[in-house]
Amino acid sequence: MNSDSMRIPQATAKRLPLYYRFIQNLHSSGKQRVSSAELSEAVKVDSATIRRDFSYFGALGKKGYGYNVSYLLSFFRKTLDQDEVTNVALIGVGNLGTAFLNYNFLKNNNTKIQVAFDVEESKVGTKIGEVPIYHMDELEETLAKLEVPVAILTIPQSAAQTITDRLVQSNIKGILNFTPARLNVPPDIRVHHIDLAIELQSLVYFLKNYPEESVGK
Ligand code: ATP
Repeated sequence: MNSDSMRIPQATAKRLPLYYRFIQNLHSSGKQRVSSAELSEAVKVDSATIRRDFSYFGALGKKGYGYNVSYLLSFFRKTLDQDEVTNVALIGVGNLGTAFLNYNFLKNNNTKIQVAFDVEESKVGTKIGEVPIYHMDELEETLAKLEVPVAILTIPQSAAQTITDRLVQSNIKGILNFTPARLNVPPDIRVHHIDLAIELQSLVYFLKNYPEESVGK
């Protein structure tokens, strides 16, 4: 993100990609304005939060008019650096890693998995969805050649910290961690943790214990 976005609270910043995806859809369907109520319904964020978030962007909706879709779109493009592709490396080409390589995120935003790494000889030297798979022994050398600020971890938990340490040494700035491991990193490295098993367990718990409460929070 560019420096203008540094002033936006982190909770707001986390919602930006969600807003951006919806605004993109509105724009391509030719819609020129959108109300906070419509946005709220679509992205499942309450409209007071949306109004507060948007006020940080300098997008002040007018009563009875809503927000200008083109303005929002250009704001999001600029803030999310959508005009530039961010390169990503994926570590661990197992079931989950393979799914990510096939999907490769480009449809929704400008991040692209450029390289993948694994230790399994049968996978090394092949490609999945056009992404070449290298051996872990080639990690440092390969990352030094490419500008890759972000890594996705889809390796077993036991390998996560050692690999993280190597990634930090290789100038990776952000890690999307799909392993259950809690990673130790220096303060200037950002880790976002997605533990799918915990998310699923938590969903089931909430369904059982709070069945009457509204969803989509
Ligand atoms: P699979 O069915 O291929 O085993 P999985 O997702 O169930 O997939 P995991 O044991 O989680 O298997 O391993 C994910 C991937 O990480 C595998 O492709 C494995 O070869 C790879 N892997 C394991 N250890 C390392 C390591 N130290 N460095 C890089 N990749 C590794």
